[in-house]
Amino acid sequence: MADTAKIDIKSLQFEELQETLRGLGEPSYRVGQIADWLYKKRVESFENMTNLPHALRAQLATLFTFDRLEIVRVLGSRDTTRKFLFRLADGNLIESVLIPASSALYGEKSDRRTICISTQVGCAYGCKFCASGLDGFSRNLRANEIVHQILAVENQNDEKVDNIVFMGMGEPLANFDNVMRAIRIINARWGLGIGARHITVSTSGLAPQIRKLADEPVQIRLAVSLHGATDEVRSQIMPINRRYNIETLLSACDYYVTHKKQRLTFEYILIADTNDSDEQAAALVKHARRLNAKVNLIPYNTVEDLPWSRPSRTRQEKFLSILRAQGIAATLRREKGHDIEAACGQLRLQTDREKRQQIIA
Ligand code: SAH
Ligand code: SF4
Repeated sequence: MADTAKIDIKSLQFEELQETLRGLGEPSYRVGQIADWLYKKRVESFENMTNLPHALRAQLATLFTFDRLEIVRVLGSRDTTRKFLFRLADGNLIESVLIPASSALYGEKSDRRTICISTQVGCAYGCKFCASGLDGFSRNLRANEIVHQILAVENQNDEKVDNIVFMGMGEPLANFDNVMRAIRIINARWGLGIGARHITVSTSGLAPQIRKLADEPVQIRLAVSLHGATDEVRSQIMPINRRYNIETLLSACDYYVTHKKQRLTFEYILIADTNDSDEQAAALVKHARRLNAKVNLIPYNTVEDLPWSRPSRTRQEKFLSILRAQGIAATLRREKGHDIEAACGQLRLQTDREKRQQIIA
């Protein structure tokens, strides 16, 4: 079990590592060597950093941990969407989803391998349709636990991913500092070297944090989970809307777009007889036009024990056509593998329940 007083070395920024090594009287090139071991060669212990002096390896081991991220389960096959269930050092479970090259997501070219990663254990926001919040919130993930999901999936797969979406379990902007730390590591040349434009953060609408993100220098993409185009409908399924209503949210989005000079995406899950009416589509047109936003329609994935379902295919297409007829850049996800692409949180929930039933020791 990890020593809680120490932090994992993969939570550190380059400058922090530099500072530590300077304090130890080490030459400046050591920091590059260590970053190389961590993010390029990807060793799993200080002992394996063979070009460092033995004494330094031992010293690093007294200062930092090297936490494990254990793969508990992998669902899906090589050519389909694959779900990874991980156990953290403290026993908590999180998940990541690897989406193969074929499904074009978020306007990116279709030859990308996308990984969807988690930022918290559970979620405190309790959206009515979402599996992630069903068992409440346990804790924030640390930066290393966020980065480690990518490393573990790449290692298991023996293949690089080139697109990162923060759309797994949890609300990324509620874990702002750790998420930003992780993003800097993912983005940096000394780290994973993934371009900022290939990193998308999704939020349920934390208006103040959207403004804070706009003030950050990094040019990542932002997706906003709208899922309802009027306060009445949105408040029904997303409790956050009672704290930050649509106008408050959209004005934070205005700020983001103006500061970043960047288009954002509205995610809009289509839920039968809830948010899929022509009136909702018309209201959504107005919001998208105001922000020049793209709209990504996602047919709802059913969650066990929850009453919601996806609209018929005809209804989905109708909703899309209303947006398109008004000139909105909208896409409808027509994914295969509905079962495996089951939305965030479901795999963990299932395994947690099994655990309670003593199926997993
Ligand atoms: N908390 C953030 C990011 C994680 S959720 C957010 O809410 O944006 C990522 C996306 O998956 C969100 O748009 C969320 O609304 C959506 N989602 C959650 N449950 C879903 C389900 N059952 N079917 C389809 N999409 C779902
Ligand atoms: Fe949390 Fe996002 Fe799920 Fe809402 S949709 S409960 S914010 S993970």
